[in-house]
Amino acid sequence: MVTDVARCAHCDSPIVNPASSERHGNQVFCCRNCAHEMEQGGSGTDPQAGRWENELTCAHCGCHIVDESSMQTQGDQAFCCDNCARAMATTSGR
Ligand SMILES: [Zn+2]
Ligand SMILES: [Zn+2]
Ligand SMILES: [Zn+2]
Repeated sequence: MVTDVARCAHCDSPIVNPASSERHGNQVFCCRNCAHEMEQGGSGTDPQAGRWENELTCAHCGCHIVDESSMQTQGDQAFCCDNCARAMATTSGR
């Protein structure tokens, strides 16, 4: 395991593709979607509620994809960014 890879402060995905990463102070996020999710944070509302009905969510970390510029799709799954897509690919061994 590589230990010096940065990890997203929201979803803990290893940031293997820094192109989409966002730095907020001393926190690093895999992409703007996770940074946004963190800023929205603390709203204890039901994630199943209809408010986000039209928003895509990341198949790996579940954050809402508000910035589609970093979005990645694989088949019928959407990921907030390349980092989550790769994290999914490496964790789901089979
Ligand atoms: Zn993230
Ligand atoms: Zn991401
Ligand atoms: Zn994600």
